[in-house]
Amino acid sequence: MARTLSLLGKAASQMSEDLVIPPGGQWSAVIRAGTTLRIVDLEGRQAVDFLCYNAARPEERYNAADTMKIAGSIFLSQGIALYSGLGNKLFTIAEDTVGYHDTIGGCCSEESNFVRYGVRGTPNCRDNFLRALSPHKLGARDIVANVNWFMYVPVDSNGAMAIAQGRSKPGDHVTLRAEMDVLAVISNCPQVHNLANDFRPTPIRLVVAG
Ligand SMILES: [Zn+2]
Repeated sequence: MARTLSLLGKAASQMSEDLVIPPGGQWSAVIRAGTTLRIVDLEGRQAVDFLCYNAARPEERYNAADTMKIAGSIFLSQGIALYSGLGNKLFTIAEDTVGYHDTIGGCCSEESNFVRYGVRGTPNCRDNFLRALSPHKLGARDIVANVNWFMYVPVDSNGAMAIAQGRSKPGDHVTLRAEMDVLAVISNCPQVHNLANDFRPTPIRLVVAG
């Protein structure tokens, strides 16, 4: 049975977990090597901002550029590994029912929302990341270019890019297999000013399984 988690950050370190993160919520946990983290887009078209670190030595963390270079694709999908900057696999995408996940669009922030949309005080993924990183003694210096599960950012032959309408349907999911003990950090994106969440943030389900 899934349960609802509060909006507060969580420093979990258990082998199994099944919970629902509300729209705009955040979460973090250490995913032990060999176990899986499944992220379910319950209602579809919900961006899930994601960071990951070597749990034992968080100076080693996700490297978007190396991941794309090694994959030969700007889209993340089944079979692709999320690499650290030291050439090690953090997660492998063991299962994916969508085929298009982004890692070039970055996370939304109070500041970028003001620049792009002229609004102040918006809930945002950068603040969520900071709340989720804090229990692990990590902070602003540890936020790097992130993954956006279920977010679709196509780039055309002229280089034009945009956050387009997501391609995920209700119940679509991605399953990540930890290749080492990994600290995973999630912001269930609260953005309402672009198509990342189809202007309507919705809950996601997380399942950690040994
Ligand atoms: Zn966001």
